Amino acid sequence: MSNSIYTAPVYKLVDFNNLFIELTAKNCNQRCSSCYIEFGNNFGITKQVKDFISVDKIKEAIEDTKNENLYCIYLTGAEPMTHPDFNTILRLCLKRCNVCICTNASFLNEKKIRFLKKVEEEGVNIGVKIGTTTSCGTDIKQQDKNGGNQIFFKLSVTHYNELESDKAKYRGNFRQTIYALKTLSRYNFNSVLSVQNYYKLNEDEIFENFNRIFKEQDITNTDIQITVSHPSFEDDNFSKPSKKTDCMYGRILCQNGVYACPFLANDYRGRSGSSFKDFSKNITAETDFCATCSKNNNYMFAIG
Ligand code: SF4
Repeated sequence: MSNSIYTAPVYKLVDFNNLFIELTAKNCNQRCSSCYIEFGNNFGITKQVKDFISVDKIKEAIEDTKNENLYCIYLTGAEPMTHPDFNTILRLCLKRCNVCICTNASFLNEKKIRFLKKVEEEGVNIGVKIGTTTSCGTDIKQQDKNGGNQIFFKLSVTHYNELESDKAKYRGNFRQTIYALKTLSRYNFNSVLSVQNYYKLNEDEIFENFNRIFKEQDITNTDIQITVSHPSFEDDNFSKPSKKTDCMYGRILCQNGVYACPFLANDYRGRSGSSFKDFSKNITAETDFCATCSKNNNYMFAIG
């Protein structure tokens, strides 16, 4: 038996590339069984919780981070598209850099996707240009080929089999996600399909099956990046410090302050400060979530 005492690693903010904004902590129209957010019994009666972040808070954060090397702002939640000022917030953030919408896909019908394409194009028309103009692929650091900032989408499933996936998400999630990916692809949006490997599947099997599904659905999968993440399991422990975590390259803004990463949003263990005027650049990685990061050794939320 080893007598050594485990010391949690301290992760420093290496470069501030990713600003996550929690638009709502608890408001979600679905509430998947596999979600890391604890919705609690208080919210069991209704899914409508009025805990939306204010637009002023977001404006302040964008101003305070104006000298940071931001690649992307991530609109997260619970479900970010339930925010009543979602369109205003999206336009505001797109003026600063690329935006990734992390959504359960249920609001992504063709009408909404067409509208979002128009919003993205407004940025080009009003000449929002920073850095070089390049073609984009799914590289979050790049603007689109017309020089405007882009909207990305991050959707998630748990299995390539519809019924198995829906068991850990919500009924109809798989079908809606594939439909949304197909429609987003038709409108030339770049998307990330995050496969939360809840069932401990072999990664090759996951890629092969999604490539098959995309082919069957006639989806040009060059617009879709597939990522596999390994959610937390009971046997998780810290094997070694991670090389790359979300807290090394970003922070999350919540209505009541700044936190290390989306896992630790509103959790005192991840508290970094009250605003981006003065916030901590270090975090002690001591939570079960941090063990999950150590196992994945890569971003759990950011893309690219
Ligand atoms: S959960 Fe991961 S990203 Fe968040 S503070 Fe811990 S190590 Fe960093």
